[in-house]
Amino acid sequence: MLQHYSDYNLFTSSPEEKLYIRRQIKTGLLQGKTIAIKDNIAVKGWQLSCASGILANYLSPYHATVVQRILDGDGTIIGKTNLDEFAMGSSNEHTIFGSVKNPVDSTKVPGGSSGGSATAVALGVCDMALGSDTGGSVRQPAAFCGVYGLKPTYGRVSRYGLVAFASSFDQIGILSNSTQDAALLLQVIAGHDPSDATSSDRQVPDYLKKLSEPEQHKVGIPWEQITDGADVEIIDRLKSLITFLKSSGCDVKNINLPHLRYSIATYYILTMAEASSNLARYDGVRYGLSDRKNVLENMYRDTRSAGFGEEVKRRIMLGTYILSSGYYDAYYKKAQKVRRLIRDDFVNVFKNVDVIILPTTPTPAFDLGENLNDPIKMYLSDIFTTPINLAGIPALSVPAGTHSSGLPIGLQLVGDFFNEETILRLSYYIECNYTK
Ligand code: GLN
Repeated sequence: MLQHYSDYNLFTSSPEEKLYIRRQIKTGLLQGKTIAIKDNIAVKGWQLSCASGILANYLSPYHATVVQRILDGDGTIIGKTNLDEFAMGSSNEHTIFGSVKNPVDSTKVPGGSSGGSATAVALGVCDMALGSDTGGSVRQPAAFCGVYGLKPTYGRVSRYGLVAFASSFDQIGILSNSTQDAALLLQVIAGHDPSDATSSDRQVPDYLKKLSEPEQHKVGIPWEQITDGADVEIIDRLKSLITFLKSSGCDVKNINLPHLRYSIATYYILTMAEASSNLARYDGVRYGLSDRKNVLENMYRDTRSAGFGEEVKRRIMLGTYILSSGYYDAYYKKAQKVRRLIRDDFVNVFKNVDVIILPTTPTPAFDLGENLNDPIKMYLSDIFTTPINLAGIPALSVPAGTHSSGLPIGLQLVGDFFNEETILRLSYYIECNYTK
């Protein structure tokens, strides 16, 4: 353990500057709770850096809907957390604020891109934190740091005020030290928002009340798709959890998700395409950094060359290529079709089971610097998280014991569309009854 939380590079802006609504009597669900916000979610008057040089000095003129709801719920916001630039990464090393360190072993990465949020929660700097999950950025750091990480169904939580990376994947999620805290924060932030046309108007259930309702779940495990490539000790933890669930009366079935192996390729093609379009707005005119020492055409090039980091540039260039005429059909359109096949695999399986269990990651946290010069290796670590975003369904990473290296292991409970209450309930049952 390092000496002080500042040694972990958790925050992008001062946590001294707390934010809450001054009320005499606080009765909201979040009274007494401290919450950190990933620095790609807007807090009015605070820096919104996305850990990027291009937005380093940019202040947000408004609150994201989730932030307004937290304040209305009497939560206290304690600061903005570090991330991979524009949420692109799996290690929290692509950031102008310095790599975040894993809270259990500071020679390891905390995961990404919500590494600052996961580490802040794991160290007890705050009760809960918001992250964003486009392809695993809440669940993978949760697994690497030994905390809970919930990615809700696409559309369950408003994205208004979340800086766009890949809009058809992005979803705000929650990091916490308990299932109850995850349910509590979801209760506050979920629900329709007129400012986000993709947010759902489905009624928000009472997650907290339903947590302890008894239920014997039908659980599916895609053994064929997970045994190759995952660390043996992670598979052992999965087997141990299954034995426990069977002894608790759950009906456990082997299932098949035949298109899962195409997830990484499909995810990276589609998200790079969306990112190249979303990040076109950082042109030196509208936001943040502006390099105007030359003629107009050079302003765009100079600003973007100086402001974006290497990984973001790689994705913008690949995304632009993927969308270019001639390659659009071969890559983008094809990937859209495969996305549908992956989604349909889940739809079919959920006709027979309530929850799917998967490892969150194929390995525990890796060394700082280990995958930094090998982007493909970095991308491959997202094999179990990206399919969930391709489908748009909810998933919760739960702490499930410790690896012989001493690092935490996380397993994912995956639910059907808008069925957060089922995975929260199973998580609560595991938290209360399963000895890791
Ligand atoms: N690691 C994935 C990526 O680099 C996921 C990122 C995310 O969920 N924001 O794209």
